[in-house]
Amino acid sequence: MMESITACRSCGETELVTLLELGRVPLANALLDHPDQAEDCFPLTLVFCQRCSLVQILQTIDPEVLFGTYPYFSSFSETMLDHARAEAQMLTARFGLTKQSLVMEVASNDGYLLRNFVEFGIPVLGIEPATNIAGAANRAGVPTLCEFFGRQLAQRLRAQGRRADVLIGNNVLAHVADLNGFVAGMALLLRETGCAVLEVPYVREMIDGTEFDTIYHEHLCYYSLHALAALFARHGLEVADVERHAIHGGSLRVYCRPTQTGAAPSPAVRTLLAEEADSGLTGPAYYRAFARNVDRLRGDLLAELGRRKAAGQRLAAYGASAKGSTLMNSTGIGREHLDYIVDRSTVKQGRFAPGNRLPILPPETLVERRPDAVLLLTWNFADEIVRQQRAYLDAGGEFIVPVPRVHAIGKSVGV
Ligand SMILES: [Zn+2]
Repeated sequence: MMESITACRSCGETELVTLLELGRVPLANALLDHPDQAEDCFPLTLVFCQRCSLVQILQTIDPEVLFGTYPYFSSFSETMLDHARAEAQMLTARFGLTKQSLVMEVASNDGYLLRNFVEFGIPVLGIEPATNIAGAANRAGVPTLCEFFGRQLAQRLRAQGRRADVLIGNNVLAHVADLNGFVAGMALLLRETGCAVLEVPYVREMIDGTEFDTIYHEHLCYYSLHALAALFARHGLEVADVERHAIHGGSLRVYCRPTQTGAAPSPAVRTLLAEEADSGLTGPAYYRAFARNVDRLRGDLLAELGRRKAAGQRLAAYGASAKGSTLMNSTGIGREHLDYIVDRSTVKQGRFAPGNRLPILPPETLVERRPDAVLLLTWNFADEIVRQQRAYLDAGGEFIVPVPRVHAIGKSVGV
């Protein structure tokens, strides 16, 4: 069920530098059906490869266990839907996509991105390993194969003449155990003139923003542009362009093409590579302060919750997310601090959070029960959630935002 790597997931280097130990924690997305249900816990250790700069975790959980019934339906977040629509419009214009084109997406989820291309009349093919989610995509009119993506599937599709003009992989590269097989598959599926467009959480944002709650067993790798470029180069791909986006606490969107095109990368690529080298992202010293900052943040958060409990406050949390699971379980936040978690996803409501087993209730509970404060576990969607929970805030409620530093949002502290 769990294996530990002994060499870098990308380049095979065996000397890996330990950055942060988060202890033994449950799988962050493994919601429980009953509060007394048995669950497994696994160590979670962040390391750095000095050869290719890749930050990664040591532990690999069997993907069938991790993603078999993944509870995350992207379509529940308005921010992600807006981001997806904008991306589809931009890619259609940038690559001049037509009825003769083919847009493929790996880990296409419920089709929330591809359905935009379907609306534009552009042929699509989604690849999504979670059966319940792939089923939902197909029912919504987005053709989706229910399989894990890798070299083998790419060879099969290529043999059928199915190659991509645009191959999208949003927030998937962090999850891939066979990284080289995956990128080799991408290279096989791309047309000579094709472009792979990938979004990954940017490791620099995680380190600089003390976003340690983005570390969980689903996220095997945490990328810099240096680490990405080294990985792609091994498979005949090069980074042609790069953009930074605010989604998911700060992401990179990279555009990769077959190396033989001979064209120069964009100024943005050269600038970002130079910035990374200047700020030390290619060496371990840059990452060493991270563990100290994480310890300080966790101490501050426990002190804040403890102070409020001592004052007799009733506390809840917002967002039964994987981030929230890492944050709560690696910090030791449980039923002694919080009464319940609210979440908009009807798939999660009525179930229990991994580890601390807090019940998950609908967001309307906040207005009904009026807890004194709500720990905002999905702080990356803070603006959207604060807008939706205006009634709770207007009634005197507060949100406690844990990252990048513990602070409150609410009437008494100014919104
Ligand atoms: Zn490496």
